[in-house]
Amino acid sequence: MKKHNFYAGPSILPQYTIDNVAEAVKDFAGTGLSVMEVSHRSKEFIAVMDEAQQLFRDLLEIPDGYHVLFLGGGASTQFTMIPMNLMKNKSAYLNTGSWASKAIKEAKLYGEVVEVASSKEAIFNYIPRGYEVPGDSDYFHITTNNTIYGTQITEDMDCKVPLIADMSSDIFCRPVDISKYILIYGGAQKNLAPAGVTFVIVKEDALGKVDRLIPTMLDYRTHIDKGSMFNTPPVLPVFAALQTLKWLKGHGGLKEMNKKNIAKAGLLYDAIERNKLFKPTVKDVKDRSIMNICWVMNEQYAELEGEFFEFATAKGMIGIKGHRSVGGFRASTYNALPRESVEALIEVMQEFETSKA
Ligand SMILES: *Cc1c(COP(=O)(O)O)cnc(C)c1O
Repeated sequence: MKKHNFYAGPSILPQYTIDNVAEAVKDFAGTGLSVMEVSHRSKEFIAVMDEAQQLFRDLLEIPDGYHVLFLGGGASTQFTMIPMNLMKNKSAYLNTGSWASKAIKEAKLYGEVVEVASSKEAIFNYIPRGYEVPGDSDYFHITTNNTIYGTQITEDMDCKVPLIADMSSDIFCRPVDISKYILIYGGAQKNLAPAGVTFVIVKEDALGKVDRLIPTMLDYRTHIDKGSMFNTPPVLPVFAALQTLKWLKGHGGLKEMNKKNIAKAGLLYDAIERNKLFKPTVKDVKDRSIMNICWVMNEQYAELEGEFFEFATAKGMIGIKGHRSVGGFRASTYNALPRESVEALIEVMQEFETSKA
């Protein structure tokens, strides 16, 4: 039976990426060695690193004056590196979920943190609007896609203070106006590569403004100066990321990806709205994520939740359990998820509805 992979992360990758990684695990770039056993200083791997950085620039149209880094530590280490490297006295954060909350907690270790707004009281089922960002903040931090709750900010906002975004789960889902941000980061395991590599896009002139002592490994400058090769980079995940970047380029780039993602998500939201058993958790259409689609049972069918999960799983729908803090269901519709998988899920939802009618 075909499996449809809706996991939130680690999550589906293009078959192209998986095939090329499988090949390189056996023989990397004609070296006769596995990609797991070559030096990161070998000319073959340096070429991988260079091309991955270049494709990041090409696909996202990154302007001059920005660096692209591939680091370890996950997006969670960026929660610390950002305030350490960029906050002099004060920063502002938008609290749209548990990842944002974790980022706020770390920032508080380094100075004054203003939480400009939060949707916590509604289990983060909307994106707050109409807040004020203090003009003396060193930066404003947002989480563009809230993986757990299925909300997304899809506009690159104008902000009077430097803007920073956690794009762990929506990088490459749409074109981004990089010039609106001083730093964008994310773990690769949602839309790009296996777990183990973290990408950071950072503007040169945002750095060097804080006085505190920064440990070598947590200083962006260290990694910029050494082209992400200060220490051993995550070789295999970077190789895998390069394959996904090539796949993205070969499939029409980010405009095309965005179109497909909007269409896939639209299909699924419509099917949830139409189905009498279910309702989406995010009511406001403009806040709905095109990467993680969350829904629950309608009240009168609440007792069918477990049964639907078993039913769908038995039909090959993998990873649709909602995060424990939200309950219900979540289907992640990342770039590599084919439209057919969304259609298959919708069919299963309809079949279940019919069986209960
Ligand atoms: C998964 C995720 C993280 C955490 O990433 P790690 O690489 O596991 O540290 C942070 N932010 C968002 C939005 C995520 O989806």
